[in-house]
Amino acid sequence: MMNNRIDKILSERVFTKESLVELLNANTDDTAKIFAEARKIKKEYIGNKVHLRGLIELTNYCTKNCYYCGIASGVKNVNRYMLSMPEVEQAIRFIHENHYGGIVIQSGELQSEKFVSLIEEILHKANSISGNTLGITLSCGEQIPETYKRWKDAGAHRYLLRIEASNRDLYYKLHPRNKKHDFETRVSALYSLKELGYQTGTGVMIGLPFQTVEDLASDLLFMRDFDIDMCGMGPYIEHEDTPLYKFAHLAVNKTQKVQLSLKMIAILRIMMKDINIAATTAMQTLINGGREMALKAGANILMPNTTPGIFREHYSLYKNKPGLYEEAADSKDMIEKLIQRTGSITGYGEKGNAPHYYRRCRSLNSQSLPTTNRS
Ligand code: SF4
Repeated sequence: MMNNRIDKILSERVFTKESLVELLNANTDDTAKIFAEARKIKKEYIGNKVHLRGLIELTNYCTKNCYYCGIASGVKNVNRYMLSMPEVEQAIRFIHENHYGGIVIQSGELQSEKFVSLIEEILHKANSISGNTLGITLSCGEQIPETYKRWKDAGAHRYLLRIEASNRDLYYKLHPRNKKHDFETRVSALYSLKELGYQTGTGVMIGLPFQTVEDLASDLLFMRDFDIDMCGMGPYIEHEDTPLYKFAHLAVNKTQKVQLSLKMIAILRIMMKDINIAATTAMQTLINGGREMALKAGANILMPNTTPGIFREHYSLYKNKPGLYEEAADSKDMIEKLIQRTGSITGYGEKGNAPHYYRRCRSLNSQSLPTTNRS
């Protein structure tokens, strides 16, 4: 039976907290309509391509203690590693030679001068190996604006800094309430990135203990109002060695997490038509075929893991992460088949920048408007 309310929201596209809660609470039939609308919008504004970013998990050292994270500094049962420059170089060459088009350097949060210069060196290396053809994303946490600027000057294009929860109270249930984990600092870091001209991305965890559907609606409004270019969000997956684990029973069940995550992706696609949205590994961890589902719900980016195989098991933000024991080439084959199964094609050799970023730059009449096309 037709639910006029959901139809009305989808046709009028006036998104308030109340209307978003209605979408997030939609029943199975109405959810199918939300997914269909998201697919239509994705086809129109993004097209049929899925773009790849080879993920390099540079180090699992981190100075912070987020309560949900399996590599937080307080988690003892972790073999800490830092990839050597030859290992990073090998991964960059793999990404370049296999025409992935994009690269993501991810790490725990470190702010030492040694680390800041190491990232600069990696950026120079990636640009020199690829002849400046790779789109380079950093995901190395909160840094001072000067550091973000140094990395931008060294050749980074995009930055992903997840807010994790836009509700301040919920944020402090996930993080210690201290200077190192300050909510306002996180928001201000996001603004610094945008001001510096990065393609700026954020995201949240879905299905957290203490989280309400209203919180998720607010997360969607936060991303819209911040005017993000990219989003990486996925289900919360508990890690038994972390402080949040004792509250895991308060989270929604696995099926609800999957459904909520897919709905968040679809609704965000409807709200922010031309941004890049990642089908995250966490989706795959939660359910077999999770990334395919995410692509079908409106996501358009995949991040195959290209970290050398022997280190992957140590970058466990959560348990049961897929691809831990596969070498990069196996993952590439698997990813290609996955994309084919969704009826999409792979945007090999293309940076896959978000059309939204170009539109945002144009509307700001920015001098830093990139001269490249989406390739
Ligand atoms: S979530 Fe990021 S910043 Fe927080 S402890 Fe884990 S790696 Fe460190």
